[in-house]
Amino acid sequence: MINFKKARERMVETQLIARGISDPKVLEAMRKVPRHLFVDEALQDQAYNDHPLPISDKQTISQPYVVALMTESLKFTGQEKVLEIGTGSGYQAAVLAELAGRVFSIERHPGLALRANQVLRDLGYRNVIIRVGDGSMGWPDDAPFDAVMVTAGTPEVPQPLVDQLAVGGRLIVPVGDRLGQDLVLVQRRPEGITKTNMGGVRFVDLVGKWGWKE
Ligand code: SAH
Repeated sequence: MINFKKARERMVETQLIARGISDPKVLEAMRKVPRHLFVDEALQDQAYNDHPLPISDKQTISQPYVVALMTESLKFTGQEKVLEIGTGSGYQAAVLAELAGRVFSIERHPGLALRANQVLRDLGYRNVIIRVGDGSMGWPDDAPFDAVMVTAGTPEVPQPLVDQLAVGGRLIVPVGDRLGQDLVLVQRRPEGITKTNMGGVRFVDLVGKWGWKE
C-alpha cells in the first residue's frame, strides 16, 4: 500500500520546489489535493510521478509541475472568480478551488465532466461549478473573470476569453501547433493587454470554435 501523503510531499520537494515553484499557497494546495483520486485505480501508484497520465476519452491529466506553474502564474490572493477550460479529471479544478473563491470549469466530454463532478463533490469542494460545452467561447453568463486557465493547446488565444477577463485579470493559455505550445500569459491592465511567453509545454488539443476543428 502506497503512502500517498508521503508521495505528494516528495512530489512537491523534487518536482516543484526544485524547479522554482515558490508560492507557499500553491505548494500547500499541491500538498493537499489527493491527485491519485483523479485517475483510474490502476494508475494510482503513478499519480505523483513526474509526467502526465491518461484519463478517458483520449485525454490526459497534466504533469504536476505544469499544474503548479500555470496555477502560480495566475497569482491568486483568495477571492478570485476563475474560469478553467478543459475540466478533464477535475484535478486542476481542485487545485484552483483551494486558492480562489469560485471556480467555473468547462469540459466538452460529458463523461469526463460527470466523473470530475463526482470526485470533487466526494472530496467536499463546494466552490466548483462544471458545465459541458465549448469552453473556447468562455462562459459569458458569469463573466468577467479575475483569472482564466486553458488546459488544452490552441493555435491562437481565443478572443472571447480575453474579452471575458476583468480589468487586472490574468489568462494563461498554451498557444502553438499540435505538437508543442508556449504558455502565454495574457494580462488585462487598465492601459491595455500585455502578453508574456512563459515557456514550452505540450497539451492535448483545444477542440472548438476558437481552437482546432474536430
Ligand atoms: N485540466 C485537466 C486536464 C485537461 S486535458 C485535469 O486537471 O485533469 C484537456 C481537456 O480539455 C480534455 O478533457 C478535453 O476534453 C478538454 N477540451 C478540449 N477542448 C475543449 C473545449 N473547447 N471546451 C471544453 N473542454 C475542452
